[in-house]
Amino acid sequence: MKGLAMLGIGKIGWIEKERPVCGPLDAVVRPIALAPCTSDVHTVWEGAIGERNNLILGHEGCGIVEEVGELVKDFKPGDKVMFAAITPDWLSLEAQGGYSMHSGGMLAGWKFSNIEDGVFSEFFRVNQADANLAHLPDSISPAEACMLSDMVPTGFHGAELADIQFGDTVLVIGIGPVGLMSVAAANMRGASRIICVGTRQVCIDAAKGYGATDFISYRQGPIDEQVIKITGGKGVDRVIIAGGGVETFEAAINCLKPGGKIGNVNYLGSGDYINIPRLEWGVGMGHKQINGGLMPGGRLRVEKLASLVEYGKLDVKPLITHEFHGFESVEEALLLMKDKPADLIKPVVMV
Ligand code: NAD
Ligand code: ZN
Repeated sequence: MKGLAMLGIGKIGWIEKERPVCGPLDAVVRPIALAPCTSDVHTVWEGAIGERNNLILGHEGCGIVEEVGELVKDFKPGDKVMFAAITPDWLSLEAQGGYSMHSGGMLAGWKFSNIEDGVFSEFFRVNQADANLAHLPDSISPAEACMLSDMVPTGFHGAELADIQFGDTVLVIGIGPVGLMSVAAANMRGASRIICVGTRQVCIDAAKGYGATDFISYRQGPIDEQVIKITGGKGVDRVIIAGGGVETFEAAINCLKPGGKIGNVNYLGSGDYINIPRLEWGVGMGHKQINGGLMPGGRLRVEKLASLVEYGKLDVKPLITHEFHGFESVEEALLLMKDKPADLIKPVVMV
């Protein structure tokens, strides 16, 4: 079978591989829609998780079941399915401890395009199908299902990590597709004021639709100073980081109130250390929490988040700005993600 792979840091290309073997608990799926991710860009062009050779990329999509293992109960060949980008080992102790995303080691619940071949392939294997696949309802389009793979579960995890409470003033740093879903999630969790750091008009328009109330630009001076100014010196209750580099943490600490919480879902592609300003962190006693996490993944989460789309509580269509047709155009879509033209939020590929 054919797949679009990371050949080495900075290099992608089409390769031929054996079709994956379906274990007793697994399914082999062929894609019907795919989406590239900024994480693929960090992995390939920044070498953010180190060298990977001939590893098939991609972790967002939906598909049709081709084959199931003999112990799979809820899925059969021909079923239309969706899945989260993170496909944990649900039998692991880490999953039993509540950290499915780290099943088998730190970040090891993230298999596709990290430690196993990803989904930019004619066929891909989904481990523990009953726990990691979900049936794709007729009311959700394949393009929308792609957004439920990663953008929705990750953006919403940002709001979970920041522990948004009713009436909170929330700062969202980075309003690409993940940050936009964090805005939507913060709004659903009862945030009052949602201040976004972002400059691209297409993202600003989408953010307004998801409940953002204020916008500032990181190109117009330090964001902490701007936040302090527009909040009348008070700062914010919560910060969600979904874009930028290691420097965003310093700004987040500086404008966070004591007792505040930071939820980071950003994949930090470069820089060795994150600096925490000593004084603004209350000389170690400021009760300013920093939580950073990979999203949990798994069937239940996908089904629950999909129900928000099914029942009209969340519209993911504004995220999809570009649509490609044909399996091979996944390469063009990935390069578009790397180049980030001003009108792009998220591309999808109809296979
Ligand atoms: P994106 O690149 O489309 O969006 C990030 C946005 O941040 C861009 O619009 C960019 O202009 C903006 N930005 C850049 N520098 C900034 C700064 N200093 N301050 C504020 N904004 C700044 O990416 P995305 O697809 O929305 O993903 C966001 C991040 O989440 C990426 O790093 C991605 O790899 C990561 N991610 C994490 C998980 C997870 O499970 N934790 C899953 C998927 C993606
Ligand atoms: Zn992704």
